[in-house]
Amino acid sequence: MSEFEYASAPESKEIAKIAASYDLFIGGKFVKAKKGKSFDTINPATEEVLAKIAYADKLDIDLAVKTARSAYTKIWSKMPAKERGKYLYRIARILQERAREFAVVETLDNGKPIRESRDTDIPLAAAHFFYHAGWADKLEYAGVGSKPKALGVVGQIIPWNFPLLMLSWKIAPALAAGNTVVLKPAETTPLTALLFAEVCQQAGLPDGVVNIITGDGITGAALVNHPDINKIAFTGSTEVGKAIARSIAATNKSATLELGGKAANIVFEDAAFDEAVEGIVNGIFFNQGHVCCAGSRLLLQENIADEVVEKLKKRMSLIRVGDPMDKNTDLGAINSAEQLKRIKEISNTGDAEGAQRWSAECKLPTKGFWMAPTIFTGVSQAHRIAREEIFGPVLSVLTFRTPAEAIEKANNTMYGLSAGIWSDKGSKILWAAQKLKAGVIWSNTFNKFDPASPFGGYKESGWGREGGRHGLAGYLTSESKVKK
Ligand code: ADP
Repeated sequence: MSEFEYASAPESKEIAKIAASYDLFIGGKFVKAKKGKSFDTINPATEEVLAKIAYADKLDIDLAVKTARSAYTKIWSKMPAKERGKYLYRIARILQERAREFAVVETLDNGKPIRESRDTDIPLAAAHFFYHAGWADKLEYAGVGSKPKALGVVGQIIPWNFPLLMLSWKIAPALAAGNTVVLKPAETTPLTALLFAEVCQQAGLPDGVVNIITGDGITGAALVNHPDINKIAFTGSTEVGKAIARSIAATNKSATLELGGKAANIVFEDAAFDEAVEGIVNGIFFNQGHVCCAGSRLLLQENIADEVVEKLKKRMSLIRVGDPMDKNTDLGAINSAEQLKRIKEISNTGDAEGAQRWSAECKLPTKGFWMAPTIFTGVSQAHRIAREEIFGPVLSVLTFRTPAEAIEKANNTMYGLSAGIWSDKGSKILWAAQKLKAGVIWSNTFNKFDPASPFGGYKESGWGREGGRHGLAGYLTSESKVKK
């Protein structure tokens, strides 16, 4: 019998109408960057240039912030909350209607499998707008007193791993709470944010309520330092998060910071192994491991470790790596050459420090940025691969003997964003969940998200929460605090 092979099933690119170049979105229209500078955004799976993107500097940011301030003062803060909510519903519906187009553009710009952008990123982004639309006229229940007020103009900076989804986590609660925004997408993935600018136009959102400026870290830093910003909402690396915290110290700006993670995914001896293996794979290989809450430290109870690792390797051999536009693909391209370099550099310390590397055998495309799914066994807590965020498809496997040791090892990190627990015993799950110092804890599952559920970290994983009532409260203040 001949070997079973998947036929290729690429999604059509025709649906994505990507322009040759994009300007900045300020005051409801696309405007040229004042200095006329631009940069390319590429498809990381092929290294093809997708579009030229305007590069915003201080002058452009100043215009965007002034525009957002004026929209806040003259329009958005005066609009009845119920009316604001209608715009959010409209945006949510348009995102649903244009979901396929958004999925294709996201996959082309980011390198993630089309199956993930289509089934996870875009539906969740729309869900965030639907959820927050409902909040717009119920803000008195957000937990900040009976007369909550918006903060004003919010500067928002997002990363490249879930571009549209992170945009929706930022923009939806900010608008529902009555703020106006200036948002900067990451330099390697600006396209869906610019497509979102078109959605704002289509929804008839008042000009200047949402402004999108494109650029790199220097652009981001200029936004953070603009004196007329009331709050910074940032998702990205802990290093940049710390720099932002330093820059806004001694100002009146508030901040939400969603930073790195090194989540423990703990498998106890009484877990259902096959399900746990699926959860481990989902925990670390979803989105190429470019996930701040990825289950990147697998903690296995010692007596089951060999069996689970063996099952895991078998399962990893079935992961299909390749063309992100193919619906059969499980693991797409690494987002950029720089990120691939970073992943390789930290992974190589695993070899140097004595851990054992194993990678699934797979043929990697010759163009683009790729990494085979990889695990390291024999990892100790002191190894760099057990301590630092790799942000790629690389799993570090550690073992423990007793539940108490599992908790101690899981909490032995500067991070605390998420954790996973696999066990057949409800009492053990609840016991462990109470002891883990992590903002989100999944039991017998991993990487599940819902707009109603607050997300955020302990320790160096960040400040504040996003999603749910707690996330919304971060965009509000009680009346007495508002500057007259
Ligand atoms: P990563 O390390 O995962 O690439 P970064 O934290 O560097 O993530 O980037 C996340 C976002 O922060 C991007 O939009 C990036 O342009 C922006 N950024 C980078 N450096 C700074 C900075 N110093 N100040 C503000 N924003 C920054």
